[in-house]
Amino acid sequence: MNATPHGLRRDPALPFNLLQSGHLIVQWSIGRQIALLTLSQMPDYQHTLAKPVSTSGVGLHTGCQVRLCLLPAPSNTGIVFRRVDLEGFEIEAKARHVARVSYATSLMKKGVLISTTEHLLSALAAMRIDNVYVELNNLEVPIMDGSALPFVRLIHEAGLRRQRARRTYARILKPIELADGARRIAAYPADAFSASYTISFPHPLVGEQHFEFAGDSAQYEAEVAPARTFGFLEEVETLRQQGLVRGGSLENAIVLARHGVLNPEGLRFPDEFCRHKVLDLMGDLVMLGYPLLGRVVAERAGHAMHVALVAQLLRDKSTWTLVESRRRADRELSFQKREAAVASSAL
Ligand SMILES: [Zn+2]
Repeated sequence: MNATPHGLRRDPALPFNLLQSGHLIVQWSIGRQIALLTLSQMPDYQHTLAKPVSTSGVGLHTGCQVRLCLLPAPSNTGIVFRRVDLEGFEIEAKARHVARVSYATSLMKKGVLISTTEHLLSALAAMRIDNVYVELNNLEVPIMDGSALPFVRLIHEAGLRRQRARRTYARILKPIELADGARRIAAYPADAFSASYTISFPHPLVGEQHFEFAGDSAQYEAEVAPARTFGFLEEVETLRQQGLVRGGSLENAIVLARHGVLNPEGLRFPDEFCRHKVLDLMGDLVMLGYPLLGRVVAERAGHAMHVALVAQLLRDKSTWTLVESRRRADRELSFQKREAAVASSAL
């Protein structure tokens, strides 16, 4: 490989090229072989919020008004929900607490529920927030406009604070694939996180859509965060009878009728549906407990399969390993230096 992923040729005098995008590309020549290590957008240290922030809104499924506060948390806290209406009962955003995953990803601990977590978790993960207390005075995270953009803006309002503890990543070591009929989800080894999603709905506005995400938080904010949740008008009555989508409206979801959308403003992107699935996937992957270094490919999947992938990863720990970004880079560089020394001494 003679060029970086950005199409720039390597300067042989400079083993390190710091690109304008902020991606650190480390290349080392070993004879004719060039090793390429991309530390794209991977912070070394944990981050929390610089100050508390709050907002309020309605729960999509409960229809209840709820107040949401995001507060700074110490290193290695992770993302912890608190029900302030239940004496501050805490539920960690971890796979062992995942409860219901049909129409939303909910957490439950000792009978206490936190519902519809995925859009907020997606925003927190994409903005690299490792440690935060999420306080709610009801059981459901407010749906806001149905996307993750209001949460991204809330995080911007708070600002980020770098912490002393290093960040630990879960790096995929070998392919892991799950299938359920035509539904499929897989994770493959890669140096950075990326997601590839394909959906297929027999609707003139949806059909088959495909979206790839391999960007940073700015790209997430522009291309993924604004994508809203969606539903089909013909399903609304059934869902209501099941006690779901009581807070649903055209202000917080795209509603698809037989030939178009009911929302007067239309779509934010032609492939908004598929972008929203990537948003959901990134939120559900938070349950692993570590940011993922790997490529996730999903076809016709949904919350249940996203969570099944996390569960399978936690069951089979031979498929991934924990790495600290800087140590990992140092380790790989020292290996490559040794290889280079061996190669030059052989000349
Ligand atoms: Zn969603």
